[in-house]
Order: sequence, then structure tokens, then C-alpha cells
Amino acid sequence: MTAKTAAAASNASKTPRPTAPTVHGYPRQGPGRELKKAVEGYWKGRVTAGALRETAARLRRENWRQLRETGVHEVPTGDFSLYDHVLDTTVMVGAVPERHRAAVEQDPLDGYFAMARGTQDVAPLEMTKWFDTNYHYLVPELGPGTRFAADSAKQTGELSEAIAQGHEARPVLVGPVTYLLLAKPAPGVPEDFEPLTLLERLLPVYAEVLADLRAAGAGWVQLDEPALAQDRTPDELSAAARAYRELGELTDRPRLLAASYFDRLGDALPVLAKAPIEGLALDFTGRAAANLEDLARAGGLPGKRLVAGVVDGRNIWINDLKKSLATLASLLGFAGRVDVAPSCSLLHVPLNAAVERDIDPQIARWLAFARQKTEETVALAKGMSEGTDVIAGLLHANSAALASRSSAALTRDPAVRARSEAVTGDDSRRAQPYPERAAAQRARLGLPPLPTTTIGSFPQTGELRSARADLRAGRLDADGYGKRIAAEIRDVVAFQDQAGLDVLVHGEPERNDMVQYFAERLSGYIATRHGWVQSYGTRYVRPPILAGDVSRPAPMTVEWTRYAQSLTDRPVKGMLTGPVTMLAWSFVRDDQPRAETARQVALALRDEVADLEDAGTAVIQVDEPALRETLPLRAEGRTEYLAWATEAFRLATGVVRADTQIHTHMCYAEFGDIVSAIADLDADVISLEAARSHMQVADELAAAGYPNEVGPGVYDIHSPRVPDVHEIESLLRKALGAVPSERLWVNPDCGLKTRGWPEVREALEHMTRAARTVRREL
Ligand code: GLN
Ligand code: ZN
Repeated sequence: MTAKTAAAASNASKTPRPTAPTVHGYPRQGPGRELKKAVEGYWKGRVTAGALRETAARLRRENWRQLRETGVHEVPTGDFSLYDHVLDTTVMVGAVPERHRAAVEQDPLDGYFAMARGTQDVAPLEMTKWFDTNYHYLVPELGPGTRFAADSAKQTGELSEAIAQGHEARPVLVGPVTYLLLAKPAPGVPEDFEPLTLLERLLPVYAEVLADLRAAGAGWVQLDEPALAQDRTPDELSAAARAYRELGELTDRPRLLAASYFDRLGDALPVLAKAPIEGLALDFTGRAAANLEDLARAGGLPGKRLVAGVVDGRNIWINDLKKSLATLASLLGFAGRVDVAPSCSLLHVPLNAAVERDIDPQIARWLAFARQKTEETVALAKGMSEGTDVIAGLLHANSAALASRSSAALTRDPAVRARSEAVTGDDSRRAQPYPERAAAQRARLGLPPLPTTTIGSFPQTGELRSARADLRAGRLDADGYGKRIAAEIRDVVAFQDQAGLDVLVHGEPERNDMVQYFAERLSGYIATRHGWVQSYGTRYVRPPILAGDVSRPAPMTVEWTRYAQSLTDRPVKGMLTGPVTMLAWSFVRDDQPRAETARQVALALRDEVADLEDAGTAVIQVDEPALRETLPLRAEGRTEYLAWATEAFRLATGVVRADTQIHTHMCYAEFGDIVSAIADLDADVISLEAARSHMQVADELAAAGYPNEVGPGVYDIHSPRVPDVHEIESLLRKALGAVPSERLWVNPDCGLKTRGWPEVREALEHMTRAARTVRREL
């Protein structure tokens, strides 16, 4: 301890209070995804508004009761949502966009869903990822004309419910700084408008909500400020300081707990520590563990409440209780009171690991979902308050489970480890530089200039989905299912041949999901039966769990690729999901660095790439749509991340000969900050989303000197609208202004699986026609 931190320690209140457990938020869906059913039922007119509200109230009651029974005596309220908590905040501050006003005034519930999903006539709010999680929130739209007005009804209503049920409760709100930092300029407002300039206008609204919550019985209110765990400018930090000074100086308010998670608070830590508020919640897991030193450096939180997030709230592994107790012990001197919590809302993990009956019991004991994480939190608080003897049994079981994990065959496959250790720099490098490869590929493939292709998937029709359901239910045998898939591939290939595409795909009809399909075929992954996590609104996903050392027992895609190739003389692309995306959309083991796990996945994919090449596949695409999503929130972690992420891609693909063409695909329009990483992938061809940004992507790539071939999307697949031939031609001409013709490809923005056949047929015919026209102009 430094002199300064020792001083902080001695400043802390003399009689430390017992440590209490709490959580920042809880999964909303219910054990049988009741919320999804009720909300979707309401949309279809099968469930009344009253019944929907009752279901929601029942789920909240159940969650609070669970928490209380487990030993949490201060439950969160207001974290529940019918769709999204950021949208709830938009309602709370009265920032309903102009175009939704009438609907909201007519019926608040229907208006709420109209903002979330749009209607025939009005577009919904944009949806985007909640920091680096797989949860998506609805982006507030603000402008200089925005006038806020407080609507505390949802917050006070849920608080009153909890109090009426006999709970002590702490309302959880998105904090004002994060709310503004997550917002974007409303349509028609200049792009450079900064929503944070509305802070002075927003704070009185928060003041009113806080007063209302106090009147409704809140002792504490939590204000979530995860945006302060990102790199912030001095102006943004001083806005945060202003906000918490102003809120702190209010007289009619509950005690305030500012919460941050997902990374270290960094420069924002002293700002919040010095603010005249009563508490701070910090994440102490993973890279956010640096909060410990930062807190020491800031002189701790003398006399205040520290809520220590020592249980990882966004992954599904059991806690190392002894290690957490040590962290908590080292925090005791830093604050007047130290409480224990998961690092963030438990929204990001499934509800209950105990219902997973199909998972090997040896592995099941390594898992902790929301329920189990709450139990761990309670146990830690108990250990801190009453001494570790009281939880000796739990500690023993925990150590045994951790030991069984670290010594299990699943997590320690000697062959995988030996292979990974033997990797050399040459393995993750193509043997020839791009220009040499390009010449060899040109000779082998004989493609015209501006070659046309698609991103991989074709429409996932109702028949395909029901064939899969029939297979699962035993109504269809593997042979019958295989015949269905083969028939689909035949149709997809025949269509592409006839439409005149140059590089074909098999259409991915056999894949339910681009990660799950491979997770089911790789050793080291396990699946859950009920492990649903909210992705957005009523959409829930069941991420696979990457639990052990990864290897590929048998080829995964070779057979269908070979079959598709047998149907045509044109090249058919092999289609794989890249290592970074295989990690990003799974729960990943936390007992070794992600870089090592990515390397194992890359080596398994490398086997597949080699087998595809041996089977005669001349073009292989390895998709990495998640490369940018998992970019660390703060710049300090990015270089290292991009180094291992791009190395994993090159390791997966570096095995092929010069005349085998490697493609990759990413679907985002903004990637300015990772252009050099994209170049580091050294793929021969990259396809990207570009249609909606009018080819801006092509300009950016060119400006950054991107050296290889590029296919900026010319067809926005997010909309059912069919682009006309002239529109595609003009996009291509625009792209030609940035990318020389010998390096330009023609393709849609992304896969076509969510589209219908009639529009896909027409759009791709337009695309090939436009390519032919523009080729003649070269
Ligand atoms: N190959 C995948 C597809 O076409 C890529 C999907 C994606 O980029 N998200 O569906
Ligand atoms: Zn895509």
C-alpha cells in the first residue's frame, strides 16, 4: 500500500459495516421465456395489454423473491423491460422522437413498441450493440430542439411494487452521461451535433425522477455509467464531473450509487470518486481489474459505499471464491462500506444452470448462470461479514470444481496443446505475397473483370426450417434431411448459373447459424438446452459454450461444398466462420487467454481449409463479421487484440497454395479505425457492407492504401427493396473511382438468409446485369 492509500484506509469509517450482496440487474425473460411469449402474443393481438402487464409483474415478483430467498436484501428495480432499458430511459426523459409522438400519445404501450419496431409508416429507432456485449439497445435520437420532460411512472411503479412485496429496493437507471453519449443526432440534425451538449437540459429531468423515487421510498438509486469505462475526452470527463456535482448537490434526493462496468473507469474514476455522491460500483473482473490500482491511486472512497463487482456478470463460469475474497479483503480499507455484486447486470447470462440436464455433470459444476452467480455473490458477502469458516463447505466445493476443471481431459488435450505450441510465424503467413497469388489465381480461375459473387447464404425458407425441426423431432431421418438439403443446393446453384454469377456458393441451407453449426462439429464446444440470453427485444440466442481445448474430429463442410461443385463448372466458394467470430458469439473459457483459444479454433479451421483445398475448392471464404465488435472498449487493449485476432485468421487460412483464393467478409460500414488490421488479414478478397453508406467504404479503404481485392456491397440486404440496375451501376462506377477495376468485386452487403426468394432472384439478376454493363465501359 502506498502512503496515500494507507491514509485512505485509515480515513474509512471506524466500525466497518457488514458486507451486503446485491445485483445490478437480472434476466427478464423468465424460466420459460414467458416474457417473449407475452410480448409477441400482444403484437399478434392474442394477449391483451392487461395480460402482458400481469405477466411482466409476475416475472418481476418472481425475480425479486428469488433474489431475496438467495440472500439479496436490496433488490434492483427498474432494470426490467418489455423491450429495452435504454428505450425505457428515452421514455423516462421524454425524448420520444417526433415521428413517434402521435403513436405514443394515442397509446403509450403501442407507441413504445412502435419506437422499438417501427410501423408501416414510421421507421423504428436504430438498434446497436450495448458496448462490447451481444445485447442491442435502441439508440436515442436527439437534437438541439430536444426538450426533455420527466416521466417517472415506470421507475416509481416498479419500486412501489417491490416495496409492497416487502423488499428493500434500489432503482437502477441509465445515468445521464451515458444516456447522452449513447445517443445520436436525430434525422435532419447535423451529423456533428453532440448530444452531450444537452446535459444541462437533461439534469433537471433526472433531478425530478430522483425526487419522485425518493418520495416513492427509495433509499438508494443506482445510476449506470458504463460509457465512462470507455476512453473519454477531457470535455466529456468534465461534463461527467458537472453532472455528478449537480445531482449530488440536490437536496431532495436518495443516496446515489454511480455504477460502471465492462472495463476500468480510468480517468473517470477520480471524477466519480470526488463527486458529492454516496457510492460507486466498480467492475473488478478481467481487464477491469485495473480498477483496484486506480482506486488506490485516487485515494479510495473514504466514508462511501463501494459495490465491488467480483463475480463476472457476462460469462458463465463459476467464480474463484478464494480469489474474490482476497480481492474484497484488499478493498476493505478503501471505503466506508464494501458490498459485493456481479460485475454488471446478469442480463448477459442465462437464467439457471441447474436446469441443464444434458450437460455432463462433471462440466455442469463449472457453470454459473444468473441464479448461481447470485448464490456466489451472497456467499462472498457472507464470508466477508461472518468469516470464511461460515462458508467453508462452499469454498471446499468451489476449489474442487475449479480443480476438476483445470485437470479435465476437456480443458487439457495434449495433442491440441502441442500443436498450438509448435506454431511458427510461417504458419500464419501465406507463402507468396499478394501480387504473386493474384496472378496465380487469375490463371486458375479465369474470371472476368468485376467478378460477381454473393456472401454465402441464400434464403432460409420455411421448408428448410421445418425440415430441421422435423429432423430434431425424429419425424425426418438424416437421409431424408440430406435429400432436402441437396435439393436446395441444386436449386441455389442452378439459379446462380443461370443468373450468370461468376463465383458461386452452395447457399448454406444446412446451417442453422454460422457459429452454432461449427460449434456442434468441433470438440471443445458444448451446447445448452435452455441457455437463452436476450439479444434484443424478444430475440433471444443460445450461445454455445467454448469450454475446452478445440479440435476438429472430422471435416465439417467438405461434403456439401464438393456436392455443390459437382453441379457446375464455375467455381463454388467454400464457406467457413472465422476464429474471432467463433469466439465473439459464444461464451468463451476464462481459464486461458482468449488469444490461445482463438489459436486453437484457428488450427481446427486450418484443417478444414486444407481439406477444402484438397477437395478441389479454388475459393474459400472465412467470415469475420465480429472482428470489430470485440474490439476492446479502451484503446489500450486494442493493439494486442488486433494482433492475435488477425494472426488467428492468417493461421486458419495461411495453409493454402498461391492459386487458392481466400475471401473474407465483414458486415459493418464503419471500420476506419481498423483498416490496417483488415489489411493484416491478408485475404485475397474482402467483401464489406457499403450500399447504405454509398460506397464510402471503398473510398476509405482506398485512402488507407488497402492493397488487395475488395467487394464493397452494392445491394442492401437489410431491406426487402430490390435495387434497380442503374442504381447498382452507379454504385459500381463510384467504387471504380476508388478501387482499380482489376481489384474490384461485385456482391451484396451480406448473406441473403433473411430475404425472400422473389426479391433475391430479381436483385441478383440486376446485379449481374449492372456488372456486365459497367465491364463494357472499362
Ligand atoms: N456467410 C454468411 C452468410 O452469408 C455471413 C453472415 C454474416 O456476415 N453475418 O450468411
Ligand atoms: Zn455480413
